[in-house]
Amino acid sequence: MKQQKIEIPSKSKAEGRSAERNLPSEILNILDQGIMMWSAEGTCVLFNTRVLDLLGFKADQIKIGVSRADLRSTCSMGGPAKAHDLAEAEAQIRANRPYSFDITNLSGRTINITGRPARNGCYLETFVDVTAARQASQDLIVAKQAAESAESRTRDILESERTRQSEAKLLGHLDEWLQSCKTLKELFAIVTRFMPKLLPGSKGELYVYSNSRDALDGMCNWNTVDLHDSISADSCWALRRGRSYEYEEGGLCVECEHVAEHRHNVSVPEYICIPIIAHGDTVGLLHIRFDRIAAESAHMTQSAKFAVRCGEHISMAIANVKLRDELHEKSVRDPLTGLYNRRYLVEALRREINASERRGTGFGLVSFDIDHFKTFNDNHGHDAGDVVLRTLGAKITDCLGGRDIACRLGGEEFAILMPGADIEAAEAFAQKLREATHKVSVRYGETILPEITISAGVTAYPDGGTRPQSLMQCVDKALYAAKAKGRDCIVRAYQPEESGIAPEG
Ligand code: GH3
Ligand code: MG
Ligand code: MG
Repeated sequence: MKQQKIEIPSKSKAEGRSAERNLPSEILNILDQGIMMWSAEGTCVLFNTRVLDLLGFKADQIKIGVSRADLRSTCSMGGPAKAHDLAEAEAQIRANRPYSFDITNLSGRTINITGRPARNGCYLETFVDVTAARQASQDLIVAKQAAESAESRTRDILESERTRQSEAKLLGHLDEWLQSCKTLKELFAIVTRFMPKLLPGSKGELYVYSNSRDALDGMCNWNTVDLHDSISADSCWALRRGRSYEYEEGGLCVECEHVAEHRHNVSVPEYICIPIIAHGDTVGLLHIRFDRIAAESAHMTQSAKFAVRCGEHISMAIANVKLRDELHEKSVRDPLTGLYNRRYLVEALRREINASERRGTGFGLVSFDIDHFKTFNDNHGHDAGDVVLRTLGAKITDCLGGRDIACRLGGEEFAILMPGADIEAAEAFAQKLREATHKVSVRYGETILPEITISAGVTAYPDGGTRPQSLMQCVDKALYAAKAKGRDCIVRAYQPEESGIAPEG
């Protein structure tokens, strides 16, 4: 194409010419946009002074006739991204399509260059300072990202608050049930029922130390049939370390022996062992396994933390039941012999009367007293008397049947409640005990104490009475009769018509 004759940038050349001829040049030079026209051959045929300003060039750095390739390299827009933009623009020119790209000039301002096809294969390029617009859109992107991250943080906070609230609600519900448990058996039933709801996708077992404390006995489980009769304390890292132990397959941790021994070659991806601590003492172990889906879920850590909280609540409940058991045990035991006390006998009689009434069965009652024990104490001292009472307590325990209940009523008086026994069986037992007492040999210091004898009265429900008090009166009467008969003997309660004891009910 033929070059146009408009020499726009040079004002000196424009001087002396007619105002009409300079008008297009003046219009172009006052524009805020830079304008440049390229011929079909790629040479500059027109440009305004604003192009110089925007590119930061001196007046002689752009001339009519300069090739686009030369100008582009002079521009030294540099950098791989820019080179790519320039190559892309050339490709668009070849395809006769528009193009647009940004450059950063020497003053650090962002200039947008847009080219559009014009007539006869020419290209018109416009240059616009878009620094403010680009900064605004960049600011907008940053603000949008900040808003998105704040929104996601809020969502996370809300989600964790929701989880916390629902966990607190579940734990509150569990607590309510646990606190109303009167026995450990009831408590274990609650654990079995609640844990699958509290920790979905989990399986678990609860172990409690045996009385001898050499092992832990399996008490209850959920979602699994694996409940081992007993495990050793040494086989669990949580018990050995005295704190919760989380195991993760492939992690930097070692599987507990009690898990490895019993998993029958099935891999356990993740589990947690939580020591059950009551009043500072470790009393048991809560072992929880998570199935593979639960273990791989993002909520796993959350579940493990929640499992530990459940363990704490179960610990507290076990502690309470144990404390209640201990207090009750203390209130119904005689400290000297370890046998039950009078209070417990009255409770047991009431229970047994009700059960016998329901079943239509009976029970035997033996009451006995050491003969001449006052003299024994006078001769050998109160402490020696205590040793005899303790030894006799142990002897009674040896002679008892599985369901029999032995009590020390006070002083040197004892009673045995024999569920299911009739008066013959009660009398036979009293005889056995009387004979066994003869064989009791008690060493006190350097001396062997003289043998003691007992006198006993026996009766049975319902003939001897149908209430605790009347049964006790009946058997006491028989005991007095044995004393009157000369001691070291057994007397059956007389039938009401013989003894004058009025039957009740
Ligand atoms: P009896 O054959 O008539 O039963 O004569 P007894 O001396 O055994 O009867 P009594 O009721 O007069 O005396 C009971 C004695 O038991 C009085 C007391 O010294 C003794 N005793 C009561 N409680 C204890 C105790 O806890 N320890 C000791 N060592 N002696 C006790
Ligand atoms: Mg006595
Ligand atoms: Mg007495």
